Amino acid sequence: MPAKLLAGNWKMNGLTAALPQLAEIAVGAALFPQVSCVICPPATLLVQVSGLGLVTGGQDCHPHAKGAHTGDISAEMLADAGAAYVILGHSERRGNHGETDATIAAKTEAAWRAGLIAILCIGETEAQNRAGETQAVLARQLESALPDGATPANTVIAYEPVWAIGSGRTPGDAEIAATHAAIRSHLARRLPKGAAIRLLYGGSVNAANAARIFAIPDVDGGLVGGASLRAADFLPILHALSGARS
Ligand code: PEP
Repeated sequence: MPAKLLAGNWKMNGLTAALPQLAEIAVGAALFPQVSCVICPPATLLVQVSGLGLVTGGQDCHPHAKGAHTGDISAEMLADAGAAYVILGHSERRGNHGETDATIAAKTEAAWRAGLIAILCIGETEAQNRAGETQAVLARQLESALPDGATPANTVIAYEPVWAIGSGRTPGDAEIAATHAAIRSHLARRLPKGAAIRLLYGGSVNAANAARIFAIPDVDGGLVGGASLRAADFLPILHALSGARS
């Protein structure tokens, strides 16, 4: 499994008309075998996108494997549709659906149960950032949302400042470096192989800033929203990550 990882979060975007765009991403991704490229399309497209040869992920899962949970999707269903990963704890899920760290921990266990790799999102709000609380917030989220069974093989952490998502703003390089270093040392202290868990930066990554962000120590890749929707935007980001130091 390559250490570098680029995940595209399509959120609630994408109809079958987007499949040619995804096929183009699949062709491009094959040119960069030194990067794990993962596309997380809407669940309705998972089977078709997996069929294009792309590694895919879901955007959420229910803690249970099956049952009376109308509208939900289980980790087992995602795996059955071809997914290898699932994004959990995204700030839009936390904000729009009231997800707590406890719920996210249960979903993470569910992902592992189904053999999926969890991409666990953590991040501070702008007010918390301004108050100098970023590292304390992230440590709290890691303590309560990440179960003890986390390993480099079953978990990826995505640091996504809530205020950077979709805003065109990012923290400065030194801030990203300090935050990623703090996450790395938190994981190293807590888990036997925690230091090797991959850390992604997410929040307004684009073709113009990708090389700079991926050159920052302890950044092993990115979680990309808006710029993952078009091959012309996403492939230059993949190219930037492939050229970054490992
Ligand atoms: C995201 O939603 O995970 C994200 C990083 O979005 P964007 O790249 O659009 O900021």
